[in-house]
Amino acid sequence: MSPITATFRFYEELNDFLARPLRGRAFESVCAHTATTKHMIEALGVPHTEVELILVNGESVGFDRVLADGDRVAVYPKFEALDVTPLLRVRERPLRTIRFVADAHLGGLAQLLRLAGFDTLYDNHFADAEIEALAASQERIVLTRDRELLKRRTITHGCYVRALKPQTQLREIVDRLDLAGSVRAFRLCLSCNAPLRRIDKAQAEGRAPEGVLERHAQFVTCDVCRRVFWEGSHWKRMRTLIDSLVPEQRERDAKA
Ligand SMILES: [Zn+2]
Repeated sequence: MSPITATFRFYEELNDFLARPLRGRAFESVCAHTATTKHMIEALGVPHTEVELILVNGESVGFDRVLADGDRVAVYPKFEALDVTPLLRVRERPLRTIRFVADAHLGGLAQLLRLAGFDTLYDNHFADAEIEALAASQERIVLTRDRELLKRRTITHGCYVRALKPQTQLREIVDRLDLAGSVRAFRLCLSCNAPLRRIDKAQAEGRAPEGVLERHAQFVTCDVCRRVFWEGSHWKRMRTLIDSLVPEQRERDAKA
């Protein structure tokens, strides 16, 4: 069998994953005889979860397209401005509910996502196989800075997190997945990822310090850890963070 050679061109930030000499230009690569688009894209270093659209010879294809000699493959990340709705995207459907599972290095981001109201599983003992299983069984988006994890077979939705600081990571995820409209602050317990429930002052008695009971009217509790939260200074700092993320959020909360 004669060798199969295809030409590849990766666009925008997908280039970050390529070996330096291959960035920002078309290049040829030899492919195995049954190699699919997904196989080759990942062999070149790009996790498939980062890819939104693949064109082979100008036509949009899925991850399972087997490559033929002379194919020209263009690979695109999520588009910000360019309208690609007429083209087939590689994923069959977006996830209906946004839920995450964060890898062991993203504890800070996991807490901030919970703060913003997004169900996020996190445990610093999660093994890669566990994360993969949770993502598949509960339709969760995998968040990681480990591109090998995103190459795992059953992971269909994932985000390679580029930023290093939790607050910047939160902004990155909110921007990338266009989540600003879905932020609901103080809905989930930061420690347990469980829903917070409103309680009145009487129910908070004995569970919050006296001075706090005098000064505050609004309390919420988590039914898992039984902790009680109120709008203290820590809460206000968090509120400032959420508001910086979503400037319109304060208005929306005021109306709700
Ligand atoms: Zn809790």
